[in-house]
Amino acid sequence: MTPTLTRRHLLQGSLAGLTAGMSGGCARHLPSRRVVIVGAGLSGLNAALILERWGFDPQVVEAQERVGGRLWTLDHLPGSPEGGGNVMGSHYGRILKMAHDLGVPLRSPPRTLPTDYFIGNQRIPRDDWASAPANPLPDAWRNTPPSRLMGKLNASNPLLKTRAWHDPALMATDQSALSGLRALGFPETAITLIGTNNSYGNNLADTSLMSLYRVMGEFGRLSGPALAVREATQGNMRLPEAMAGQLARPVEMGEPVTAVHQSSTETRVTLASGKVLNADAVIMTLPLPALQQIDMDLPRARANLLGEVDYHKVIQLHCIVEAPFWENAGWGGSWWTDSLLGRIFTRPIPGTARYNMTVWINGDDCDELNILNETACTDTISRALWDLMPDAREVTSVGQLVRWSNDPHAGGAWALWRPGQAATAHPALRAPAGRVFFAGEHTAESYRGMEGAMESGERAALEVMRLLA
Ligand SMILES: Cc1cc2nc3c(=O)[nH]c(=O)nc-3n(C[C@H](O)[C@H](O)[C@H](O)COP(=O)(O)OP(=O)(O)OC[C@H]3O[C@@H](n4cnc5c(N)ncnc54)[C@H](O)[C@@H]3O)c2cc1C
Repeated sequence: MTPTLTRRHLLQGSLAGLTAGMSGGCARHLPSRRVVIVGAGLSGLNAALILERWGFDPQVVEAQERVGGRLWTLDHLPGSPEGGGNVMGSHYGRILKMAHDLGVPLRSPPRTLPTDYFIGNQRIPRDDWASAPANPLPDAWRNTPPSRLMGKLNASNPLLKTRAWHDPALMATDQSALSGLRALGFPETAITLIGTNNSYGNNLADTSLMSLYRVMGEFGRLSGPALAVREATQGNMRLPEAMAGQLARPVEMGEPVTAVHQSSTETRVTLASGKVLNADAVIMTLPLPALQQIDMDLPRARANLLGEVDYHKVIQLHCIVEAPFWENAGWGGSWWTDSLLGRIFTRPIPGTARYNMTVWINGDDCDELNILNETACTDTISRALWDLMPDAREVTSVGQLVRWSNDPHAGGAWALWRPGQAATAHPALRAPAGRVFFAGEHTAESYRGMEGAMESGERAALEVMRLLA
């Protein structure tokens, strides 16, 4: 049943008001308004579901032959590892509710095996980190393992709330993380280790300290049971698939959008196939590197901005391990390295004796690998792996190379914020341009990742309703 959309709902300014009214009757149907949503990731699908629920006529158009975008379950590999978004935080209210409502089962992920360290090719067992001669940290810092060093930012974190990263009073921290960490007294050795496998910036000089505070603040606010994460039991892509399955109009798959033009009364969306869709409004949910490729009537400053935001570089090599080669040597099974290999995460495949092992390379270290062809890149990473762990070779097979920066539909794993961009670029990127609206994780205000994508779809749907209702 289509609920009634009232002026009061829209003036309340959030979907909380709209959702609260959903159990009401359907005394007045709105004239059906066509909204084209470009991109069938979480943000686009969430926007479409909300609009459809309120009597609009959404049509989602997707370039690829699958939905989910940066959620990509590698179903062809044993254990179906995630090539994209992997864990759902316990604070992801929209994601968890959507999974519950659509009957997508979630579980606690199988435990990632314990992490040992390689510094300069010297192996440091996890229990010896603090005392190991190869640990480069000064005395007061030696107890902290490399992956926890950034968490020390929470001792000075000024962001007490999720949206505070836009607070003008805090903009002094929207400076280079490299100089910011130095000013905070982080030793150079700690800064080097933080930059070595940093998931939240390609390099510290070009990353805003504010954005690191934002990430660490999100983790820091969670404690105890709230730290538990979830994943979809059959693979995270099942969630966007279930969302797409709810829509009255099937997602148009394999239809890249090439242009969006608008007049004062309608918009025209052109597909690579030559087909043209007319709509009352359009929501663009593409990551910025993909959005840049679309021919749109954006003012020059806005168009330039699309190219000024960095995207995080991630390369993954997904491997299958037949036997726990690490056990004889007394290793835990996962590794943090300061080598080309970055981090190696291993976890058991439930119900089997095998393991998924993922080499995960972050940031500018990906550059030299991204310019290689698929085979050369896979060979380079595998050779580095066999050199570091000769015992792995006999029992490990390579399953899939994933390079997010080279994916034309993504251009990277997630948006990064350069110094100064929290105040200016981020708000500008989500502002509507006439009848064209913008969603996607890069436009989210409160959350990041999957929940940020959902939040952004919700906000864009509300903006469209305000225009068309
Ligand atoms: C390696 C990796 C690990 C991650 N880990 C986590 C995690 O643990 N937890 C978490 O919360 N988040 C994680 N994320 C982030 C999370 O997956 C994303 O934030 C979220 O899925 C983004 O959704 P979106 O709708 O904004 O964009 P997308 O999912 O990118 O959707 C955009 C869609 O637009 C389509 N498209 C592109 N160009 C065109 C075109 N021209 N025409 C039509 N369609 C087009 C794309 O194919 C795509 O389907 C991870 C991401 C990656 C890559």
